[in-house]
Amino acid sequence: MSSKSSRPFRVGRAKTGLGLFATEAIRKGRTIVEYRGRRITTAQAAEIERKGNNRYLFEINRHWTIDGSSRRNLGRYINHACKPNAEAIMRRTGKLEFAASRWIEPGEEITLDYGKDYFDLIIAETGCKCMSCGAKSMRKTRKVGKSTGAKKTKKKAKKTKKKSKKP
Ligand SMILES: [Zn+2]
Repeated sequence: MSSKSSRPFRVGRAKTGLGLFATEAIRKGRTIVEYRGRRITTAQAAEIERKGNNRYLFEINRHWTIDGSSRRNLGRYINHACKPNAEAIMRRTGKLEFAASRWIEPGEEITLDYGKDYFDLIIAETGCKCMSCGAKSMRKTRKVGKSTGAKKTKKKAKKTKKKSKKP
């Protein structure tokens, strides 16, 4: 019970649902939260992924994944950022913990780089809303008109399909 007060964060409303926010300054290297959940095999994880419930799977190595979908796992509320302030560390005790990768100020959202696979599967679909990407996409919007290479390619592909429909 007393462990509750030692948490250096709270769960709060973030840009994309809930997130973790520092309630005090956190020095670099300090453990913030454990990613809790049952260990499942890579095969079990693949099965869950196939059903599309892969948001809280955290792969720890080739053989094991942690299923962190339980609400008791506060680590699941940490959001992705491309320039995060926390990192995942596998302890010798077998615990997966998130620790500060730099000094974190009180009130700052605690973020983690989820890795390329997660990004491609889940984040890329809606676009990354992290601080650094938000800034980037604003810059892109301003530039539109000059570099529309990607859009052009899509249009070309559609045209080709229509033509091939007629016998
Ligand atoms: Zn990003």
